[in-house]
Amino acid sequence: MNRRDFFRLASMAGLGATAASWTQLAGAATAPQLGTVPTNTGITGRVVVIGGGMGGASVAKYLRLWGGTGVSVTLVERDSAYTSNILSNLVLNGQRTITSLQYGYSNLASRYGIRMVKGDVTNIDPVGHSVSLADGTKLPYDRLVVAPGVDFDLYPGLETAAAQAKVPHAWKAGVQTTQLRNMMVNMKAGQTFVMSIPAKPYRCPPGPYERACVVADWLKKNRPGSKVIVLDANPGIIAEPLAFANAFDVVHKGVIEYHSGVTINSIDATTMTLNTSLGNLKGNVINAIPPHRAGKVVASNGLANVGGRWAGVDVLTYQSTAAPGVHVIGDASATTQPKAGHIANQEAKICADAILRLLSGRSPDPSPITNSACYSPITSDTASWLTAIFAYDPVSGTMQPVPGAAGEAPTRSKDNYEEMIKWFNTLMEDSFA
Ligand SMILES: Cc1cc2nc3c(=O)[nH]c(=O)nc-3n(C[C@H](O)[C@H](O)[C@H](O)COP(=O)(O)OP(=O)(O)OC[C@H]3O[C@@H](n4cnc5c(N)ncnc54)[C@H](O)[C@@H]3O)c2cc1C
Repeated sequence: MNRRDFFRLASMAGLGATAASWTQLAGAATAPQLGTVPTNTGITGRVVVIGGGMGGASVAKYLRLWGGTGVSVTLVERDSAYTSNILSNLVLNGQRTITSLQYGYSNLASRYGIRMVKGDVTNIDPVGHSVSLADGTKLPYDRLVVAPGVDFDLYPGLETAAAQAKVPHAWKAGVQTTQLRNMMVNMKAGQTFVMSIPAKPYRCPPGPYERACVVADWLKKNRPGSKVIVLDANPGIIAEPLAFANAFDVVHKGVIEYHSGVTINSIDATTMTLNTSLGNLKGNVINAIPPHRAGKVVASNGLANVGGRWAGVDVLTYQSTAAPGVHVIGDASATTQPKAGHIANQEAKICADAILRLLSGRSPDPSPITNSACYSPITSDTASWLTAIFAYDPVSGTMQPVPGAAGEAPTRSKDNYEEMIKWFNTLMEDSFA
């Protein structure tokens, strides 16, 4: 499918991702309108999915869409609706609201017969094949998919809730995103916004550089003379280097000050001072994006067997290399692919296909392919993009970029900005509608 076909399909699909109450969802799950779920695949089994984000929502949907009514799917999510991180940088410049990025679970329940359970999974028992929720509920499974996204290592000095509210990371879209927007609005002309980028791997490699551009663009127009100081723990720009080098050196010249290889030792939220390898720095607003690790349920259940932070998986099935019958997808897994919503959606499809094959006694697809696209706003009406295709390499047992199939936009443009919105709507429909 080329990019034009992709967007044509996007515009043909309806969204309708409205939030319903959990009681309604539970009702819908017992009496679903199963127009799209086949009844004759012959596949049976019980799958529990932890986390209703980009990976979890997609895997739940495709397990039913491809597996049919014999495959019972239960999706456990702690929140009532999903808030998209993608496009959440546009909340900062006022182009989106947080509510415009929220997706409910009613379609998953009513169209695909997925059983929704609101709760927090605390324990996984891979031997007894069940998960336990904080409220004591126990859910049995034949196959489990874990898709909890990420958690963060706090910077020293930000241990209290009060300190975190003064120095938000806003790297999980929600309350902190709106707080950061308000802090920007309260800045005066000539003031300083300091942001930090953690060492990779972190979710959305271009995302922090994109944020620096969106903030700089807004400050330039609304708070002249202000600066964005970017403190990057990495040795240089790790995604879309052409686009962001141009953005920092030309488009937002004099506004963005970029430093690579910087270590943050601690942050004092009272004096708004960062202690760094460059010395002490003060910011009127500090947006410190902390180092990442897999969502807590991964480490607390012995699945974080890569550096103690991420879940090792076999990328033919996304089955954990620590616990049979347990699959881990999305940001929480350790693969060679970027931690991105588009990739989480792709991994979900490979995983759903593999689980259905395994439930019916067959082998997984030996040569999966995934693709990822990402658009980055550079100003309020131009964007760049990045794309890559990954194919399974049987020698290394990893997903490797297909030569010649990866690249970034030759230049930022208004067309790219418009395509970004279509790409986003398509991806969210594919996951939640
Ligand atoms: C500012 C920003 C911009 C981004 N832009 C892009 C982009 O342009 N393109 C792109 O592809 N990606 C982008 N991303 C990255 C993308 O958001 C993530 O890679 C994606 O959300 C990962 O999906 P996931 O399913 O692994 O985790 P998530 O989408 O975070 O979902 C995890 C879900 O699990 C739930 N959960 C966690 N633990 C439990 C538990 N124990 N019990 C019950 N529920 C639980 C959480 O509540 C959450 O709903 C961006 C990220 C940020 C922060």
